[in-house]
Amino acid sequence: MSAANINIPNATQPRIVIVGGGFAGLNLADKMSKMNYQVVLIDKNNFHQFQPLFYQVAMAGLETSSILFPLRKLFQKRKNVFIRVTTVTKVDTNQKRIHTLLGGLDYDHLVIAIGADTNFFGNEQIARKAFPMKTVGEALTLRNKILYDYERAITTTDYDERQGLIDIVIVGGGPTGVEVAGALAEMKKYILPKDYTELDCEEIDIYLVQGGDCLLKGMSPEASQKAEDFLKKLGVIIKLNSRVEDFDGKYVHIKGGEKIQANKVIWAAGIKGNTIKGLPEDSIVWGQRIQVDRENRVAGLEEVYALGDIAYMEEPAYPKGHPQVAQVAIQQAKNLANNFKLKSKGKPAKPFEYNDLGSMATIGRNRAVVDLPRFKFQGFFAWIVWLFVHLFSLIGMKNRLFVFINWVWNYFTYDQSLRLIIRPKNRNSKEKESKEPVKNT
Ligand SMILES: Cc1cc2nc3c(=O)[nH]c(=O)nc-3n(C[C@H](O)[C@H](O)[C@H](O)COP(=O)(O)OP(=O)(O)OC[C@H]3O[C@@H](n4cnc5c(N)ncnc54)[C@H](O)[C@@H]3O)c2cc1C
Repeated sequence: MSAANINIPNATQPRIVIVGGGFAGLNLADKMSKMNYQVVLIDKNNFHQFQPLFYQVAMAGLETSSILFPLRKLFQKRKNVFIRVTTVTKVDTNQKRIHTLLGGLDYDHLVIAIGADTNFFGNEQIARKAFPMKTVGEALTLRNKILYDYERAITTTDYDERQGLIDIVIVGGGPTGVEVAGALAEMKKYILPKDYTELDCEEIDIYLVQGGDCLLKGMSPEASQKAEDFLKKLGVIIKLNSRVEDFDGKYVHIKGGEKIQANKVIWAAGIKGNTIKGLPEDSIVWGQRIQVDRENRVAGLEEVYALGDIAYMEEPAYPKGHPQVAQVAIQQAKNLANNFKLKSKGKPAKPFEYNDLGSMATIGRNRAVVDLPRFKFQGFFAWIVWLFVHLFSLIGMKNRLFVFINWVWNYFTYDQSLRLIIRPKNRNSKEKESKEPVKNT
């Protein structure tokens, strides 16, 4: 092995380089660190993000620190784990080497677990103007924007201008879109009338626009119908079979000619794989995912694996690939770690088989929909199940405790008091504090 220039010491153990500290990468690093490997975990952030609760950060319901976990804290006692915070830009599979923004590193085994990003389906104007929610930074930017627009709305007497500022369009009727719509509707009902007494909150319209003919397409028809009923009860305007074609910052243009006035669009309509250069072109398939075999090995490459959202694997029960959800990422990581163990004992590897534990979505307080393999239920009990599943999926006792306290406080007071507009100081602008929140800050 040649000298590494992101300063990882040479070791007698084989080196496994894991790119991405999300659900897949983190679980794999945890398992591999208990075996005889040198584990190098590389992520562009120094923390793990719990994406399922991003929408609560964006809706000022949770603090960012409650859903993030520092990578180093997890591995403080594992001397064979090395963490580097940088972006991996390229893979050289012939030399068995990766390139990062800080330098290169040789590997014996490489695992790509870089997840996915928002897919705007090639519409650059929408990409520029709409608000995605795929990183905690984006969730915070959205929180700032929503709150700032209400602040601006009370300063104008012009009806049209005010409508543009207070109305919100959410595009995409999957779990994220449904959860955001529910949270916004509750903010409109319980919080805004208290915070903005000068605003007629009845004027606020929340639209949920979905291209298909139902919400929560991956779930049961009962869940989908109930989610629609719950949202309608909360006053959300649902537009099914409506495809958003453009958004110019003032109007959302829907195929067929309809226009909705709103200067804020939350884009929850699709994802595509993150990219790293150097992989064979034919291994990148639909949705920019990396095609892998049943052992998560990238087709045609030696000792290169892909896991989680970025991996596209067909198995008999999932001929079109697995859903891009946390459980797939976690289970693939466990299977791969187990395969390393089996191989070290000279035993054959086990092909991955996804065990679907169910899916769920919450729609404001007291309401959720849950599809388990044997039972489907909706309403209050489903909401309790949703709360506990999410609470126990968080990493770290402190995070669980803080989120729990936050939720209990919010449940009884209807008010989380986190509605703060916090943005970095713009060094180049003389009007530092008056700058409107912009995307990707
Ligand atoms: C808003 C939202 C809500 C969701 N809700 C749910 C839910 O309720 N239930 C559910 O099961 N799933 C949910 N998901 C999906 C779930 O979060 C993903 O399936 C899961 O995170 C995939 O795990 P992963 O490890 O493959 O990727 P990720 O968790 O996305 O991790 C990828 C990691 O790679 C890092 N990275 C990316 N590129 C590079 C690079 N070039 N160099 C270095 N590091 C890099 C990133 O910083 C990140 O830490 C939700 C997703 C979103 C966005």
